[in-house]
Amino acid sequence: MGSIGAQEQNYDVLIIGAGLSGIYSLHQVRERLPSARVRVLEAAEGAGGTWFWNCYPGARFDSETISYQFSWDKELLQEWNWKETFSAQPDILQYIERVCEKHDLYGDIQFNTRITSAQWQDTDRNWLLVDETGVQYRTRFLITCLGVLSNPTLPAIAGIQDFQGPSFHPSRWPKDFDMKRDFANKRIGVIGTGATGIQTITETSKEPSIKSLTVFQRTPSWSAPLRNAKITTEQMQKLKGEYDSTFQQCASTPTGFLHQADPRKSSEVSHEERVALWEKLYAEPGFAKWIGTFRDTFLDREANRLYSEFMADKIRQRVDDPVLAESLIPKNHGFGTRRVPLESGYFEAFNQSNVHLVDLQKTPIDRITPNGIRTTDGTEHQLDVLVYATGFDAITGGFSPIEWHGKDDRPLLGSSDGETGKRARWVDHRPYTYLGLMVPSFPNMFMVLGPHQPFGNVPRSIEHAVQVVAQLLEFCQNKNYTVVEASEEAANGWTEHVIECGKGGLLNEVDSWMTGINTNVPGKRVRSVVRYGGSAVEYRKRCQQCRAAGWSGFNFA
Ligand code: NAP
Repeated sequence: MGSIGAQEQNYDVLIIGAGLSGIYSLHQVRERLPSARVRVLEAAEGAGGTWFWNCYPGARFDSETISYQFSWDKELLQEWNWKETFSAQPDILQYIERVCEKHDLYGDIQFNTRITSAQWQDTDRNWLLVDETGVQYRTRFLITCLGVLSNPTLPAIAGIQDFQGPSFHPSRWPKDFDMKRDFANKRIGVIGTGATGIQTITETSKEPSIKSLTVFQRTPSWSAPLRNAKITTEQMQKLKGEYDSTFQQCASTPTGFLHQADPRKSSEVSHEERVALWEKLYAEPGFAKWIGTFRDTFLDREANRLYSEFMADKIRQRVDDPVLAESLIPKNHGFGTRRVPLESGYFEAFNQSNVHLVDLQKTPIDRITPNGIRTTDGTEHQLDVLVYATGFDAITGGFSPIEWHGKDDRPLLGSSDGETGKRARWVDHRPYTYLGLMVPSFPNMFMVLGPHQPFGNVPRSIEHAVQVVAQLLEFCQNKNYTVVEASEEAANGWTEHVIECGKGGLLNEVDSWMTGINTNVPGKRVRSVVRYGGSAVEYRKRCQQCRAAGWSGFNFA
């Protein structure tokens, strides 16, 4: 890559974030642009992103391990032995650390560096980044690898600062935590029953030394069995021999997972045939029960109602108290219209005498007190430890902690006029992108797993997005282009296409992080289409067509 010029311009390519996206971006930039000065800036003290931060008890994959790892390092695929069908967080982190060591990535990753501002310099045609200590970084190209679920949010509840015991969000779980030592004889409270809360609650409930566990549930989740298992040495050997077909299978499905919808509609088969498929799926590990069901289940209300009723009965069978069981069954959204949390004994936890449910629909939280949580019926639930499993400022929220100034000082996020009187590109968190890769007015700034990309099996989406970005950078280098920017026309077309793809999908009619909602974040109360709801196969085809047409939709200078 050509020299950038003046001395203070330190890098050709800067990458923000050292999760799976960031480390693979570094690897790709090194491979394709060997002379580029490249660096990764990472806020944490270690690599791994999601899998570095989320070290709460019970954190583990709910996508099959073999489909989640990197596919590009064939040597490592043969070297690495996984222990479980759905790996636990420490094993995943160990794998990521091995990737970094093997490819000597650590030398180009700078930890403990949190970027707070990024400003496009029109005259110099580069980005000026500033970290929280005031250090400045200049770079020609910027790759954002910020993660879809990286910005944790605490609940907007009065009194949160008053609580006197330890309290934390699961993605900021203390690294030196020891369940036996830190939870022994403690009354633990968990607010939130999404995938994170459910994993935390299940694992905590299994610790015999806790005094009590109180779950504060606003909306129940359609959780279903994970069915994890150990992988034997013989099984691992066999899996290693099948990796080519494993990744081919992932590449052929709309979500990048190993599972594929049943090609039939629910209404095309008899009741007995429907139940037979549902029972089969329910007995299978992983997301089969979400993704493998009849193809109309997330498009047709009646099809969804039938499957939801089947799943509700499964919950009823697992909870001893029928009144409690009804409180644990979602009533305001159908099965699979939000991301399905997978569990190993979640519902059975409520059969224990020391596990209590507080149904916040009946008695909402009034405030947090020094000693616990007071609900509107006047009860003060006494707690020693409080866990806020209350989710993330998702997708666009990864960009929020950075103050962005694009071309002509244009902000990325904000209201229509913003402080500068300039209209933000993502007004009220509604994304506007070309292929989810770039945003007009933000030249040379690429997004891996940005809004409007497919987020099914995350590493599959990451590998593809990183490769496209690296190819685009290589193209710029070969042609001596120093600026690339998505055109308004292309971004309009792509944004309309993404909105069109979302129409008719029941997932887009329910409040969740997948529809841009977070009740704890001002400005995130209105649903928007934030992810590409078309198939990953179609997405890759469109990226390929764009490249084949000389990167149509991008302007170069
Ligand atoms: P989430 O799905 O957004 O759930 C947040 C929970 O907190 C919800 O139950 C929500 O209730 C509740 N909540 C939020 N604010 C509240 C308030 N003020 N008062 C009371 N309750 C409140 O977040 P998450 O569980 O962290 O999961 C996010 C995503 O992370 C998942 O969907 C999944 O994609 C990913 N994840 C993956 C894994 C894995 O791969 N193994 C594990 C964990 C998470 P409402 O529903 O009423 O808003």
